[in-house]
Formats: sequence, structure tokens, C-alpha cells
Amino acid sequence: MPRLAIIGGGFSGVTLAFNLVIHSQAPFKLFVFEKRDIAKGTAYSTTSPGHLLNVKAEQMSALTDQPDHFINWVNTKRTYWEAIYPALKTLEIKKESYLPRCLYGLYLKGLWKETLEIARSKGIGVELIHQEVLSIDFEDTFTLFCEKGEFPFINYCLLACGVPENGYLFPELLHSARYVHNLWRASPESLLSHENLSFLPASTTVLIVGSGLTMLDAVVTLQEKKFPGEIIALSRHGKLPEVHKQLDKSAHRFFPSALPLQAKQLLRSIHAAIKEANHLGIDWRQVMEELRPLTQKTWEALPKKEKQRLLSSLSLWNRHRHRMSDRYQAIVRELGQKNRFDLMAGMIQSIEIKDPFLKISIMKKDGIFELKAHYLINCTGPNNLILQSSFPLIQSLMSQGYLKPDEVGLGALVDVDGSLIGKAQGHLFAVGQLLFGSKLEITAVPELRENSRKTAQSLCKKFCL
Ligand SMILES: Cc1cc2nc3c(=O)[nH]c(=O)nc-3n(C[C@H](O)[C@H](O)[C@H](O)COP(=O)(O)OP(=O)(O)OC[C@H]3O[C@@H](n4cnc5c(N)ncnc54)[C@H](O)[C@@H]3O)c2cc1C
Repeated sequence: MPRLAIIGGGFSGVTLAFNLVIHSQAPFKLFVFEKRDIAKGTAYSTTSPGHLLNVKAEQMSALTDQPDHFINWVNTKRTYWEAIYPALKTLEIKKESYLPRCLYGLYLKGLWKETLEIARSKGIGVELIHQEVLSIDFEDTFTLFCEKGEFPFINYCLLACGVPENGYLFPELLHSARYVHNLWRASPESLLSHENLSFLPASTTVLIVGSGLTMLDAVVTLQEKKFPGEIIALSRHGKLPEVHKQLDKSAHRFFPSALPLQAKQLLRSIHAAIKEANHLGIDWRQVMEELRPLTQKTWEALPKKEKQRLLSSLSLWNRHRHRMSDRYQAIVRELGQKNRFDLMAGMIQSIEIKDPFLKISIMKKDGIFELKAHYLINCTGPNNLILQSSFPLIQSLMSQGYLKPDEVGLGALVDVDGSLIGKAQGHLFAVGQLLFGSKLEITAVPELRENSRKTAQSLCKKFCL
């Protein structure tokens, strides 16, 4: 009986397992390795009711062929999730709502349980192993090495390990209680380990580095903990993500089915489409919606140089592509009106710990600015450069020749089947964020679920599962 291993039990790992079990015609043995909680990943492990999905509920089904799967689950399981999160008792559920991410974590857990039940009924053995895979070895079959033991005779290995949560380190602060390196896993000495921060004086300043969606989560966390002071969000551009808006779908098409394959022309045609939309009184977001299903195909067809040119506009793209809900906008607006939230454009030059504050020197457009902040929260987001990955497994795969960086260095180099080009090609596969460099649009649920489905179907066919 074939033995498969999925490394990573976040959204991609769980949907891959589900699809393998659903599409298989013959029994097999599946090991799922997850170092933390199964079916959560960074995105859905939060328990804060204020941390919201940034995609509408109607687009968050984990299953491509059942578009209402998530919304139906939320409606039918109300008693279940209300008992776990009493704060959500008054939550209004609409297809177009941006629901709390903690509900999505419960939903994925439900999908995992369903996977186990279907597997049992089909004679497929599924085993969850709560360990981090540190390295692998391949000679006809794989052996997976974890801290507590090794797992031999694995025929196919599927990487679903996402990306490390935080790329950039502030080495000078690593051991300081004034620094929060990871919003999702605050150390016991850090500011965010307190349930309630109202004991702090109102003159306390928190600097958040990063001004994207994670920064907004950090603001919500501080609010929930009754932080009384001022929050400053710093990034190179000093801008918030754009806001989602309910679109009146127009039948107007801005793009031909094939887009230009040069960066300059491509950007020009996007700008022209936005101009045309403005002229027609159509919201620019509709241009982005039309682009989304064309992005993977266009990106894959671009020559390397053109991809590299486009990447210099990545942060502008991200701000427009990964938008915030109006709830988040209202929170920062209200704090701003009370002079408790500010945005700053610049780059940190140096940090000195001068208890009770941090002396931070920031390079702004008009020169160096000195800021005294009491705490710093790192919300810079993941470092997409695979060579700099802090995952021991990824480092080991690269040094052993199982994984080569793709041509722009943002993920694994893979063939058309998603198999890693290297020493175990045809046996070692990747799904999700490890394909960022080859697909670009592979961050959110709508693309990830399709990636899992297609990969599972092709593996079942190829290996007669
Ligand atoms: C804060 C946040 C909010 C988001 N919100 C949304 C949203 O609202 N809507 C949306 O569509 N998308 C959202 N996203 C995008 C998100 O990336 C995807 O929705 C999805 O969760 C990614 O899943 P993944 O399985 O590819 O990666 P991850 O969720 O990162 O899961 C990877 C898993 O692999 C495990 N792992 C890694 N290496 C190993 C190893 N060597 N051994 C064992 N286990 C390992 C990790 O512990 C982790 O659980 C959000 C992302 C973040 C970070």
C-alpha cells in the first residue's frame, strides 16, 4: 500500500488531505505532520473575535465544487461556535460579511474530522503526527526526520508548510521585553502576554513596523487589551491597505483574455484599465477582480526579467490586492481622530534600548527623525525569499539538493505537476505558498483550494491511489 506524507497541516495541508481521500480509488496510508495545532496555520489560529477574514464569507469555501460549504457550516453550526466564542452571540451572518478568523479555524477543524471519517469508511489510514519535520532523505523511498524519531518507507512527500511568519528580525531587540517579534506567538515576558493593558499610562507609545493587514490585527489586539496609549505604524510607503467595497458588478471587460508579457506594457494596461473604469464610473476594484483569474497564467508566461521588473511594484500590488474590511478602516479612523493612531513613512536606521523606552532613529523623506517608543511590534510579514527561509526543513532541502529556488527566488522550482525539480523529482511535491514564485497569485483561499484539489486529483491519477 502506498505511503504518503503531507508536511504542514494548515489550510493547504488539510484541504490536500481531504481531496486525496475524496478522489482516491484505492487505499493508501497518509501521515500528516503538523508541528502546531492541526487545521489552523498562522491565519486561523487566532482566538480573537476581532481578527477578521479579509475575504468575504461567500468566497471562503475550502472546496471548489461546493461554493457554499463555509457559509452553510457557519449557519448550521451556530450553537457549536457560540458555545466556544460567546462574544460572537450577536454576530450577523451574511454572504458578504468578513467573519472572524477564529470561526474559520473551527471550520477547518471540522473539515479535518470529516477527512478522518471518510478515510475510515474507505479503508485509508490517516495519522496525525505532532512533530516538526526537520529533514528528509530519499533513496527509492523517503525517510522523514523529526526531533523525536524518524519515519521511513514514505513513497510520496507533499510539502504544505506555508511561509515563516516573520521575515525580518530586529536582532538588537530579540531579548528585550519591549519587543514583540511575533504577534501570533508573543513571548511570556512581552507586552502582549498581558490580558489587560489599561494599567499603562496614556503616554505610552507603541511603534508597529509594517502597515499592512498584520499591523491592523495588532491594532485590534491592542484595542481588545484596552491599550490606552498611542500607536504609530511605520512602513516605507506609510500607507494603509485599500478598503474592500461592495461592487455593483458591471459586464464591462477591461482586458483581453491574454495580457501583455512585458512588465512596462502590463502595468500600462492596468493603469489604462483603471483610468477607463474611473471614466465609466466603475470602481477600480473591479479591474483588480477581473485581473485575478488572469494573474497565474500571465505570471507563468512572463520571461524572468519581466517578472523581476514587476516585483519592484509588489508592495503597491499588495496594498490594492490584499484589502482591509471597512470594520478595520473604522477602527483606525476612530483612533486617528482621538490622536491615538498615526502612520509614518520611513525606514528604521538604528534602535537603542534606553529604558523605559526605545530610541529609534528613522530615515524619512525629509531627513532623520528620532522617535521614543516604549514598545515595538514586528508586523513586517513573511520574508518571501526562500534562500532566507528560517524553516530548518527548507534550509535542509536546499542544502541537500531536493529544493532549488525558482527563477525569482520566491519559492521552489517545480515542474508542471508541482513536483520539485531536484533529487526527488516525481516523488516530492509542493502546494500553497511554496509556489509563490511560480504562480504569484497563490496566497488566499480561492486559489489555494483549487491548488489542493488539482494536485490531489493529479496525484491520485498518477500513482493509482
Ligand atoms: C494573519 C493572516 C490572515 C489571513 N487571512 C486570510 C483571509 O482572511 N482569507 C484568505 O483567503 N487568506 C488569508 N490569509 C492567507 C493565508 O495564507 C491562507 O489563507 C492559508 O491559511 C495559507 O495556508 P497554508 O497551509 O498554505 O500555510 P499555513 O497556514 O502557514 O500552514 C502551514 C502549516 O505548516 C506547518 N509546518 C511548517 N513547516 C513544518 C514542518 N517542517 N513540520 C511540520 N509542520 C510544519 C505550520 O505549523 C503551519 O501550521 C491570511 C494569512 C495570514 C498570515
